[in-house]
Formats: sequence, structure tokens, C-alpha cells
Amino acid sequence: MSGSAIRASRNGGGAEGLRVSFEFFPPKTEAMEATLWHSIERLAPLSPSFVSVTYGAGGSTRERTHATLSRILAETPLKPAAHLTCVGATCAEVDAVVDSYAEAGVRHIVALRGDPVEGIGATYRPHPGGYAYSADLVAAIRKQHPEIEVSVSAYVERHPESPDWQTELDNLKRKVDAGASRAITQFFFDNDLYSAFLDRVAAAGISIPIVPGIVPVLNFTQTSKFAQKAGATVPPWFAARFEGLEEDPSTRQLVAAAVCAEQVLDLVDRGVTDFHFYTMNRADLVYAVCHLLGMRAAKPAGDEPLEALSLRERVG
Ligand code: FAD
Repeated sequence: MSGSAIRASRNGGGAEGLRVSFEFFPPKTEAMEATLWHSIERLAPLSPSFVSVTYGAGGSTRERTHATLSRILAETPLKPAAHLTCVGATCAEVDAVVDSYAEAGVRHIVALRGDPVEGIGATYRPHPGGYAYSADLVAAIRKQHPEIEVSVSAYVERHPESPDWQTELDNLKRKVDAGASRAITQFFFDNDLYSAFLDRVAAAGISIPIVPGIVPVLNFTQTSKFAQKAGATVPPWFAARFEGLEEDPSTRQLVAAAVCAEQVLDLVDRGVTDFHFYTMNRADLVYAVCHLLGMRAAKPAGDEPLEALSLRERVG
């Protein structure tokens, strides 16, 4: 951690001008639904810019994603962003999902290509009647619903299928030209890679915000496996921090918060103002890291105790 990052955290400040967003996945069971809503209730008072809800491979969570978005819209003042992918669906089917999001009141879509239904690593083949790549989906959304803001993905270590940086940046440029106004990165652990990526993006003449995607390490073994599939490097110094903690969840949790805080505070030092947290539907680590960023829960205007108010009243 650099000197000024330590000072920012010691001052308990640093939230000025900082914005966060939180990503959730749609729950499969009632127990998972309860966990998700507990997390949303805990994180909502931090007034995120938006909260996003993922879309399962091949549209497997279409109904659940929609139900989660609808509940967020009905019960909270949060601005939801709906993820959507091209995989395994015709253009008409994808357009219908976009229409249904718009009708429900969603005004922000994270437009993605998606991975083959067989899993990451299998060869991607566009659906014969579908949108082939994310840029095609962005263009379609913007054409049908210009009122909807569109975010896209970006990869600080290149998408695993991009053979070189030119291909990677050409693709990001196509997405921007199609109407994307923000990119959210795949997670990464080495901030120098993010800085180098920003330099490449700027040199390519791309000027939309590139928001770092931050993953708190809830379980190092699982995160490493996921990182390998997603093409994200786990540096040896990073792995060393979790060494020997496999059977020690409480220390692991403390270390995870410290490691994640160290990453985001260093990014603040590098001038980053927006952070997108992959929450895995868990609030504690993300809440702690946001606290260290200087963020505090919004206070209601009246005198009523916080617990007596609905989430909408508490935050809105
Ligand atoms: P694209 O930007 O379309 O690019 C994918 C690859 O195709 C790149 O290598 C690109 O260079 C290449 N390419 C692009 N256009 C062409 C072309 N015309 N010809 C040949 N090659 C081309 N997955 C889900 O299933 N659900 C989610 O909710 C989800 N959310 C995500 C959120 C974020 C912030 C991120 C970073 C990823 C998310 N993913 C999600 C994972 C994502 O679907 C995968 O990483 C997928 O492999 C690529 O999708 P993309 O939109 O990045 O693809």
C-alpha cells in the first residue's frame, strides 16, 4: 500500500468523488434469495451508482434475472443494471428480453457476448439467427431503446480469445462506436496491469470510463480456479497472502478485507474514482472495503430509528 493510500484510510475519508456499484447474481433457492436480500439491504445505504444483476450462461437465468431486477425496482430506490448475453438465442428472443427490461423500468444494460453454454474454454459459435458479438447487441439496444444506457466488458489482461492487443482494442472500440458509455473490467489483482491497460485504451482513442471490476477473495481456491478460466493472473505475491489459511476462515476473512482494501486504496492513489464490486451476493467484505474508502451509510431525514423504515425510506 502506498503512503497516501494509508493516509486516506487513516483519515477515514477519501469517499469524496468516489462512486461504487455492486454486482449480484440471481438466486436459485429461497435460502439464496434471503442471503441476496440481506446483502442488498446492507449495501444499499452506501448509495451505489447502480447495482447489476447477472444473466446466466445461455439465458439460463432469464426469469430469475428479471424477477430480481423487478424486486429491486419495486422495493428499493436503487438503479438496477441488467446483464444480457447473445449466447443461444435469436435476435428476436434477445430483443424481447430488452423490451421486457425496458417495460419493467430498467434503464441500464450490461451487454455481453457470453460464453459457450458448454463452458468457458469451449469454442464459441454465434447462434445462426442471433447477435454474434457484444458490439452487435450494443447497437441493437441503442437502436431500439435509446433511453437505455449500455455498459460493456473490458479485459485488462485481454479476453482469452483475443490473439493480440490490436484485436482486443479494436473490439472495445467497436463496442464504444455502437453506443456503449462505460466499460467494466474483468477482475484483476495487479494494479500495474490496469494502469497499462488504461494507457493502451487512451492510445487507441477510446475515452469512455473503464471501471475496475474488484473481486474480494471469499475463497482463494475457488477464486484461483475462476481466474484461470477467465484469463486473470494470480501473482505469486498475491497467492502467498492466503497461504496456509485454507482451514482458518476467520483469519482468511480478515486477510481478504485487508488485501482488497489495499488494492482499491492503491487504485484511488492512481486516480480511480469508480469501482464495480463483484459481491458474490455477500455484503460483509464489500461493506468493510467501502467503509475503508470512506463511504458511510446514508442517514434518513427524519427522527425515526433506521430499523423502523423500509429500505426505500432509509435510502431514498
Ligand atoms: P465480446 O466483447 O463480444 O468479445 C469476445 C471475444 O470475441 C473477444 O476476444 C473479441 O476480440 C472477439 N470478437 C469480437 N467481435 C468479433 C468479431 N466480429 N469477429 C471475431 N471475433 C470477435 N457472462 C455471462 O454469461 N453473464 C453475465 O452476466 C456476465 N457478466 C459479465 C460482466 C462483466 C463486467 C464481465 C467482464 C464479463 C461478464 N461475463 C458474463 C463474461 C463474458 O460473457 C465472457 O467473458 C465472454 O467470454 C465474452 O463476452 P464479452 O461481452 O466480453 O465479448
